[in-house]
Amino acid sequence: MTDAPAPFGPHFGFGLYVHWPYCARICPYCDFNVYAAKDRDSGPLVEAIAADIHAHRPRMPQHGGLDSVYFGGGTPALLRPDELGTILLAASETFGIKRGAEITLEANPNDVLRADLLGLQKAGVTRLSIGVQSLRDSSLAFLGRDHDAVSAAEAVKRALQVFPSVSIDLIYARPGQSPASWEAELVDALALSAPHLSLYELTFEAKTPFGLAAARGDISPMGDDAQADLYELTQSVTAAAGLPAYEVSNHAASPAHQSRHNLTYWRGGDWIGVGPGAHGRISVGGGRYASEAERRPEAYIANVQALQNGWGDAGRLEPLEVARELLAMGLRAGEGVDLRRIEVVSGAPVPRDKIAVFADKGWAVLEGAELRLTPSGRLLADAITAALSP
Ligand code: SF4
Repeated sequence: MTDAPAPFGPHFGFGLYVHWPYCARICPYCDFNVYAAKDRDSGPLVEAIAADIHAHRPRMPQHGGLDSVYFGGGTPALLRPDELGTILLAASETFGIKRGAEITLEANPNDVLRADLLGLQKAGVTRLSIGVQSLRDSSLAFLGRDHDAVSAAEAVKRALQVFPSVSIDLIYARPGQSPASWEAELVDALALSAPHLSLYELTFEAKTPFGLAAARGDISPMGDDAQADLYELTQSVTAAAGLPAYEVSNHAASPAHQSRHNLTYWRGGDWIGVGPGAHGRISVGGGRYASEAERRPEAYIANVQALQNGWGDAGRLEPLEVARELLAMGLRAGEGVDLRRIEVVSGAPVPRDKIAVFADKGWAVLEGAELRLTPSGRLLADAITAALSP
């Protein structure tokens, strides 16, 4: 008899997340760890990120090659191809990057139009994730974006000529948006033929300009029922177009175009997080560790220089924390999660009577120990997770 594989760890995927925190301008709804790029020198942060990757190695000697690298932000497309190359070289020298690995770069449409796309491809990028956000100029102005619908469409077209996989981000459930106008916009987005869509509902986070405006009553966020209607419309339009959801907000034309990097998060794999404020999850010696880098770029650089250890302060998660995270992340994905993995970690059964109620309502499907949510269940993913959580 062979032992069951560990319920989490790099055999579920091993990725590197690189957070580049600078943006040409800061959007009013954004609550990521971002700073205005101005004309600062990117060199010290690139060097610190490369050193941070190297510094991870001594504490995780068994980890093999990387399945994915994800440059997120912020606006990592502000990096030059040679700077991306420096970071990828550090990753390849330290852990190795597997042949055929997915290497994603987030970019805004105007970055794509300005960028040396072939240079990015030569540096190793295989996938572009483009922050289109809307294909309506009035909405782009409302969202504080510096591109228009024509440049967004042109950026997607150019990216598709160079990269095997391209994703488009859109934000819906904007104030006053009607189902008919969202459907028309979504159909326009599908006509751009990108094989991956990330469709997010607009949120009003407390300290952002949008959050403050909503608190003052200057903007009225869409109500929950109207948002739920748009979510369901989104599921039917994308499924009919051949891009069904494989996660709450993510849609792909085929498994080959699903984000391998994000699947690592949802499946309970490991990832290193480097760059200011980046989070990581690393499994070593039967434990799972959560790392969080210093948020401010200057503090991050100073920390890497002083400690030469990117996850010196990473805390070991308690088994219940690990189990809850595996459940929450696993239920986001269309493929679901094997409950035995949760139960091995938590030491407690996931209540089958509650699952039976959710299944009766058409929100969940249980096959053996594999639990997955249906499209309507994914709309309630947070509440269902909370009800089943150990
Ligand atoms: S470009 Fe993206 S990361 Fe930068 S401020 Fe806007 S939404 Fe945030």
